[in-house]
Amino acid sequence: MEEERYALIDALPQFVWVIRPDGSIAYTNQRWRDYRRLLSQHAEGQAGVQHLCFDGCLPIQDWQPMLPHTDSCPEKEIWLQNLHPEDKERVLAFERQAFAAGEPYTFEYRLRDGRMRAYRWFLSRRVPLRNDAGQIVQWLDTCTDIDEQKQTEEALRQSQERVSALMNSSIIGINIIEGEQIVDANDTFLRMTGYTREDLCEGRMNWLYMTPPEYLAQAQQAHQELAARQAMTYEKEYVCKDGSRLPVLVCGVVLKHHPFQGIAFVLDNSARKELEQRKDAFLGMVSHELKTPLASLKLQTQLLCKKLEKRDLPNTEVVCARMETQLNALTRLVDELLDLSRIQAGTLEYAQDTVDLGEMLEEVVNMIQDMHTNHTIAIHHASSPAVIVGDRDRLARVFLNVLSNAIKYAPDDPLIDVALTTSLEAVTISVRDQGIGIPRELQGRIFERFYRAVTPQQRAFPGLGMGLYIVAEIVRHHGGTIRVESERGKGSTFHVTFPLPPRGKRLPEG
Ligand code: ADP
Repeated sequence: MEEERYALIDALPQFVWVIRPDGSIAYTNQRWRDYRRLLSQHAEGQAGVQHLCFDGCLPIQDWQPMLPHTDSCPEKEIWLQNLHPEDKERVLAFERQAFAAGEPYTFEYRLRDGRMRAYRWFLSRRVPLRNDAGQIVQWLDTCTDIDEQKQTEEALRQSQERVSALMNSSIIGINIIEGEQIVDANDTFLRMTGYTREDLCEGRMNWLYMTPPEYLAQAQQAHQELAARQAMTYEKEYVCKDGSRLPVLVCGVVLKHHPFQGIAFVLDNSARKELEQRKDAFLGMVSHELKTPLASLKLQTQLLCKKLEKRDLPNTEVVCARMETQLNALTRLVDELLDLSRIQAGTLEYAQDTVDLGEMLEEVVNMIQDMHTNHTIAIHHASSPAVIVGDRDRLARVFLNVLSNAIKYAPDDPLIDVALTTSLEAVTISVRDQGIGIPRELQGRIFERFYRAVTPQQRAFPGLGMGLYIVAEIVRHHGGTIRVESERGKGSTFHVTFPLPPRGKRLPEG
């Protein structure tokens, strides 16, 4: 029975020691013996250490009452010699204390790795066994290799340290959400929004309530897109605890889909927004201030030209035409600037005209064709008329802009096609040029304010990057969409689509 027990102990992956009450070692299992052999093989210069070999099971009998601890056992010597120097004192003091107290105890230490000569972490558990008289007759020690666990713990500690450094960053607000609830946040986010940690702990922070109504749809869409993309950045505002608004830039990252768990990195965007507002106000003021003198200059120039023409002076007509062209370009620029600042302020007003798009296109094309005689614009009309309700002048501006771009970005390819196609529900106007085209990766950005494609070829063309932004805004206001199909060097086609009223409610032409 005793032999079986020892065989079982030998099979354990831990070291097992039976320790006499005097601290010397009475028995070690196979696992320790193998390990010790490796240690001994490496222990050069450690002559004098007597390597004991407990090859059999020692009968344990005639146990003595507990004696003061001694380190003189050679088996123990090996263990001590291979203990990490930083742990030795601590371990021995602890051992002495525990032996004196006679209570089970647990301690951790680093022991030299039998193969690598580095150190590995071990966990020792020692339990005293007592005889009938209550005297300790032996200590049973199991020693488990916990190095991997220690490494995992260390990696976890380091990662937690990094997370907490990130969480405590003073410029980035961080919150963790579960569903609609903000379940954790760093001090920066709380400071930004005016909430307290108590509000957070008591569940008074809900990102839906903290999102202003006009941003709700966008924020919910961002959440849906997050599900597909894992991470995304968007601008929004938070309603702070005192009701004020905070413009922010949010980078959301999904942690878990079901139930939804995410982390949001939040940057205070108010300084940038304020600067943007000031710039918009400045642009608005400048364009407004320019508009009146420009209109007057145009009128005076026309009067002057008429007078000069009557005098029949040489070159008058040519000079006047050039002046008019430049004045028209300037007027268009100022109008665009004015529209831009009105769009930003949300004050762009739209008329409600009945517009036959075919007719309107014809007028715009004729006007452009007169100015750009090197290009030929061909219109392909739809089989049925396309009449919508909208702002005639602004709709004309849409096509003026798209066509002007087609001419500008296709200087060497004179053919431009304009096609009008109708379906039951919608009318689409497609403007196709054979110019320089737009690289695929930039196509998503050309409708942004002040965005200009940045290829060296594109940079050679003058422009301010306002046109398509205004165009997209006007189209969107009319319930339509605009998209581009293009390939670098192979031209571009802009498709503008507007919904048509249901057939029974079609509007009369003109
Ligand atoms: P811009 O004043 O720069 O022309 P837009 O807002 O009208 O500004 O256009 C934005 C950008 O889109 C342009 O800078 C140009 O890079 C690109 N773009 C627009 N239309 C075309 C086109 N027909 N062909 C090639 N690139 C175009």
